[in-house]
Amino acid sequence: MSIRSINPTNGEVLKTFEPMTREEAMQAVSTAHDAFGSWRQTSFDYRKKMMLKLSARLREYQTEYAKMISLEMGKRLEEAMGEIEYCAHIAEFYANGAEEFLADQPMDVEDADAYIQHAPIGALLGVMPWNFPFYQVIRFATPNIMAGNTCLIKHASCVPQCAKAIEKLFTQCGFPQGVFTNLFIPSEFVATIIGDDKIAGVSLTGSEAAGASVAAEAGKNIKRSVLELGGNDAFIVLDDADLDQVVKMAVKGRMVNNGQSCVASKRFIVVEPLAESFLEGFKKQVESMTLGDPLDDSTDLGPLSTEGAAVRLAEQVQRSIDAGATVVTGGGRATEGALEKGAFYQPTILTDVTPDMPTFDEELFGPVATVYVVKDEAEAIELANHSSYGLGGSVFSADIERARKVAEQIDTGMVFINRPTKSQAELPFGGTKNSGYGRELSQLGILEFINKKLIHLG
Ligand code: NDP
Repeated sequence: MSIRSINPTNGEVLKTFEPMTREEAMQAVSTAHDAFGSWRQTSFDYRKKMMLKLSARLREYQTEYAKMISLEMGKRLEEAMGEIEYCAHIAEFYANGAEEFLADQPMDVEDADAYIQHAPIGALLGVMPWNFPFYQVIRFATPNIMAGNTCLIKHASCVPQCAKAIEKLFTQCGFPQGVFTNLFIPSEFVATIIGDDKIAGVSLTGSEAAGASVAAEAGKNIKRSVLELGGNDAFIVLDDADLDQVVKMAVKGRMVNNGQSCVASKRFIVVEPLAESFLEGFKKQVESMTLGDPLDDSTDLGPLSTEGAAVRLAEQVQRSIDAGATVVTGGGRATEGALEKGAFYQPTILTDVTPDMPTFDEELFGPVATVYVVKDEAEAIELANHSSYGLGGSVFSADIERARKVAEQIDTGMVFINRPTKSQAELPFGGTKNSGYGRELSQLGILEFINKKLIHLG
């Protein structure tokens, strides 16, 4: 079946692409494997020049790429522009930092000289999602390519134009054939690729189900894997928090990327004294949001990435309502006027969600917030940790020391104080529990697919 690029704002088919045959895909794997043999021999300086070119080109064509993102998966143009700028920064960060991050590490032993060499391991497969169609790929590919590995990408099937554009970008910046390759393949074919001897490791960002399947395949073949899966981040509001600021951050934290971010704030846990005023302020802000075309400056909230995503979200929310959740605002598809043609969902707030309800521990990937009222800090921590996920989270308080103590008790990979979780090139990104394992970005991100080899000089 052909791969279709569909504009989720109006359902229009923008372009179609033919998937690769099995032979073509396996040939691409061979080319990436062969390319590794020579790429690993190149100097950091040589790689750096190309990577800086890539960074510059992202900035030069920022508007073109951003519009492609908005058209293909519905992100507001302003956010898509931000995504491309951030990608340029990540490329620069690894272009400039890789040599130092991967420098030999002397070992302190008495009887001999010894050190750890950081050697690349081979051709890697990246299975990537649509929610940040440039960022997710750049975050995986730039550190690994700077380290001397080569990358093949199986991108989400709803963003083929972005997938193609990223491959072209690498080629235009002079990276040799096989260093970065886009694979137009169905997800059913991923296991075969992972099982091939020419693949050294796999990284997946996406759902738990996809992650479990990829990790099982990697395990069976004794290959390294990194998983960045979903999240159900807690947004804890303590009784001394600045309410105006908290409400602003709550809207930003939940509605970023039309609600489709793994580190969006999803569970708002508010202590009793502030709960009523928080809910009132949050509701007012959410109800003032304008839904519409992501290319239009006046739009606050665009569509979900696909019609299927909107149907799934509506079904999840309905199950909660049927089980007794209270709808504070929203609660269904947005269908007024032109919105009817697109994958729109009303910005929604739910309360009275209890652990026995189906959506208590499911990731709601869209503009739906759940608000919980707790009696104190201890109860807030307990509820925050009552989740199978462990990605990010935030704590809001006027007292940083108090917030830090709470943050240290939250079982996730990242906790931010007085702001929603964010991604930053210099900081590690990743989770624990069902949110996956391994880290991306920062120095930790470049060390995931590296052989930390001991050289002992006798
Ligand atoms: P998926 O996990 O299905 O898609 C992510 C990537 O994995 C895509 O490239 C997809 O390919 C591929 N994939 C899917 N199933 C498999 C499999 N069994 N083996 C190998 N690769 C696979 O996410 P969805 O788009 O279906 O979204 C579902 C939910 O996942 C969301 O509602 C959200 O909860 C979560 N999610 C989390 C993300 C995050 O940033 N952590 C990002 C996206 C989704 P293809 O597109 O061809 O199916």
